[in-house]
Amino acid sequence: MGVPGGQTESVSGAPHPPFGHLPPQAGEGIGIVPSGEERQSMAIQADYLGMPLDINDLDVENLAYFKHCAAHQFHLQRCDACGLLRYPPTTACPWCASPDSSWVPVEGRGAVHSYTEVHHAIQPAFKKHTPYLVLVVDLDTQKGKPTEDEALRVLGNLVTPDGVLAPPDMVRKVGIGTRVRMVFTDVAPGLALPQWTIDEDAKQPAKPWRYPQE
Ligand SMILES: [Zn+2]
Repeated sequence: MGVPGGQTESVSGAPHPPFGHLPPQAGEGIGIVPSGEERQSMAIQADYLGMPLDINDLDVENLAYFKHCAAHQFHLQRCDACGLLRYPPTTACPWCASPDSSWVPVEGRGAVHSYTEVHHAIQPAFKKHTPYLVLVVDLDTQKGKPTEDEALRVLGNLVTPDGVLAPPDMVRKVGIGTRVRMVFTDVAPGLALPQWTIDEDAKQPAKPWRYPQE
């Protein structure tokens, strides 16, 4: 199984080498990754609402991230040097540039920081699901660090507790400040999407901020 760092919980060492300069693995030479049976691909290809999703073999950070999501677990990279979590998955720490990190479990709870309510779907696959919400959620974890403007904010759609895009009456209840929790939408074997649903156990704001309604 050949993706460097894709199999382990820890990503360490030098930044990943550029394509075409992968280090030799046992039994193979230097060069382009063979597409045949010699190397088992970890790439993910799936169909979501009629839309193709593709995570390339070389995208080791996203492959690791979505491997945890497939098990319905939310994990982020914690920098081994400065200790800060980061999102989205990346090769190096955005705060100190260290390439060394470890995947750690993170609680999927927070509050809506901002949102977009989509009425005209750009993707035809989403047309029959409008209006739907795209949420930017401020995690409770690492809140306000390293600065208030650079806290962990995780994107996702608003969905029902069982992971289906939320119906219009649920969409209308959610605005800035709504407390949400993460749920996972299963897409295909080995792939689930992290999404957000209303946190039934949390104290909700009396009136979450929403754009003025007609
Ligand atoms: Zn760091």
